[in-house]
Amino acid sequence: MYPAPFNYHRPESLQAAIGLLSRFGDDASIMAGGQSLIPMLKMRVGDMAELIDISHLPGLDHIELRGDTLHIGALATHARIAANEAASRIPLLRECGGGIADRQVRNMGTIGGGVSVADPSGDWPTGLRTLDARLVLTGSKGARTVSISDFILDSYTTCLNEDELLTEVQIALPPEGSSSAYVAFKRAAPAYPTASAGVQLTLDGNICTAVRIALGAAAPVAVVSAEAEELLLGKEINRELLESAAETIVAASEPPPDARGSEAFKRAMLRKLVVEAGERALARCRGEEVSGGHRYA
Ligand SMILES: Cc1cc2nc3c(=O)[nH]c(=O)nc-3n(C[C@H](O)[C@H](O)[C@H](O)COP(=O)(O)OP(=O)(O)OC[C@H]3O[C@@H](n4cnc5c(N)ncnc54)[C@H](O)[C@@H]3O)c2cc1C
Repeated sequence: MYPAPFNYHRPESLQAAIGLLSRFGDDASIMAGGQSLIPMLKMRVGDMAELIDISHLPGLDHIELRGDTLHIGALATHARIAANEAASRIPLLRECGGGIADRQVRNMGTIGGGVSVADPSGDWPTGLRTLDARLVLTGSKGARTVSISDFILDSYTTCLNEDELLTEVQIALPPEGSSSAYVAFKRAAPAYPTASAGVQLTLDGNICTAVRIALGAAAPVAVVSAEAEELLLGKEINRELLESAAETIVAASEPPPDARGSEAFKRAMLRKLVVEAGERALARCRGEEVSGGHRYA
């Protein structure tokens, strides 16, 4: 289907883009990489009268380490993040960005779009929840920083005000002895995950001193469980403990049955993915080189 008619705006600066958002309010739609918006336009989902193309705005596609924080501009594409040297300090970023869809989507789609769409099965919402990322939102009143858990309020719903853009993702570099992994089960490459899991661990010697586990496609927003993490904290992690933690966090999830699988299938898959991501993160914490990828049907 052809999109319904719309007015196209191509602001030259962030301030001009924010000015347009303030002016058009509800009627404005933002386009970054266009990989979610263009399909929606073609399906005529929603009313998109004023399209504001931010894809070329300057100063929003950086990927830089500043001190002990990684700063990723909202327009950095999935492919650039997956291949970036600074980002490789956090292995989860490569696995998350590098596993999204296919090469075409990864070359166009942006981290800002991936997280702002707030699709419950999107990869960035789960990956960034695992890393407790912080997001910079810039609007007519200036910039504010919110945690990823405060940013995504519900499925497809964020705390962005009408005049705000997501401008940067910030991730604190985890301390020495830390590592991470992210793994998804997908029916095919250009398909959203049926289930996904991210694990971030910190070890002191062999003892786990910090852990975050997040599940994707398992509820309207990424699922975390303090109870599951407690099972690992202060312990020497092994497969049995990871299986117990997986059991506990999956019990706290509510994966919806749909065309991708039944609830029981998704729960089984989520348990498997937590253990797989946990073992991969653990090996990396111990200094082992472990490559990883997603599971495909
Ligand atoms: C075939 C196909 C397969 C896909 N598979 C996956 C997958 O496996 N995993 C996955 O996670 N994603 C997948 N996607 C989606 C893809 O990752 C998109 O790139 C992403 O969801 C949106 O990023 P974008 O830059 O293209 O945003 P756009 O499509 O340009 O924008 C979508 C919406 O996001 C919001 N937005 C975008 N940027 C900003 C910003 N800076 N500030 C505020 N709001 C903003 C706006 O509301 C905008 O309308 C797939 C897409 C396709 C077409």
